[in-house]
Amino acid sequence: SSESPAAAGTVLLGRYELGGLLGRGASAKVYLARDLLTGRSVAIKSFPNPRAADRQGAIEREAAILRRLRHRHVVRLHEILATRKKVHFVLDLAAGGELFSLVDASGRMTEDLARHYFRQLVSAVRYCHARGVYHRDIKPENLLLDAGGALKVADFGLGAVADSGGGRSPRHTACGTPAYVAPEILSRKGYDPAKVDVWSCGVVLFVLAAGYLPFNDASLVNMYRKIYAGRFRCPGWFSPALRDLVRRVLHPDPAARIDADGIVAHPWFRAGASDEELGR
Ligand code: ADP
Ligand code: MG
Repeated sequence: SSESPAAAGTVLLGRYELGGLLGRGASAKVYLARDLLTGRSVAIKSFPNPRAADRQGAIEREAAILRRLRHRHVVRLHEILATRKKVHFVLDLAAGGELFSLVDASGRMTEDLARHYFRQLVSAVRYCHARGVYHRDIKPENLLLDAGGALKVADFGLGAVADSGGGRSPRHTACGTPAYVAPEILSRKGYDPAKVDVWSCGVVLFVLAAGYLPFNDASLVNMYRKIYAGRFRCPGWFSPALRDLVRRVLHPDPAARIDADGIVAHPWFRAGASDEELGR
């Protein structure tokens, strides 16, 4: 194996010295690592069984998507390393951990702070859509922070690419995470991946400002019913403008749902303290 010990307690992967585990998802484990050439810290996402029949295509697709993207709020792919048994993505390190670590004791953040991060999320999503990439799994675990506190969208493992004509042909793959999934995915009639990303951005915004999920139930069936009907209640502390935006984003009919351009033009999105004034 090329993951050979260089010194006691040191594991090398090419020019990278592997450190501790940063996180894990369904498909991979992510490790802290140091680039011995530059001294910089990176994150290495290791796929354990890349040659499994169902994994190979998915890893190649995730790599192809990451190579297309270069944006200050999207985790960047530096290179791909293949060892005998594994494939590793060398990524920008999001040293600040998950966005949701910033919520207060009640599990939420101020509207100004929620707006600050929502703006960064929406700018990343608009960029991806303009490049023909749809994330399809926007949720807290995939929204990270870099050392400077900037939001980084991670994990394009369920991402989709627009067809070569640049069109947004309807998709049928059911994907995402139950609480963040758009109603049209549940109805399995085909969906526009851009609208599905907008929906899950809306769920994230709600959670940041409310401290709890808009659609939740001990029973998954009941939760899906609520999502399908677009049935939720905003907490009393939401401002009227935020309520209005959330209602437009979490609209169960994708044709009537606000799109990313509409979000950017919405009064709540434009209002409030500028990011400079927030000192971030
Ligand atoms: P999966 O595709 O298996 O879900 P992810 O890409 O979501 O894997 O990574 C799993 C977890 O590892 C994330 O939820 C996050 O906590 C952590 N992680 C992923 N990428 C980075 C990164 N670039 N920097 C720091 N932590 C990361
Ligand atoms: Mg993930």
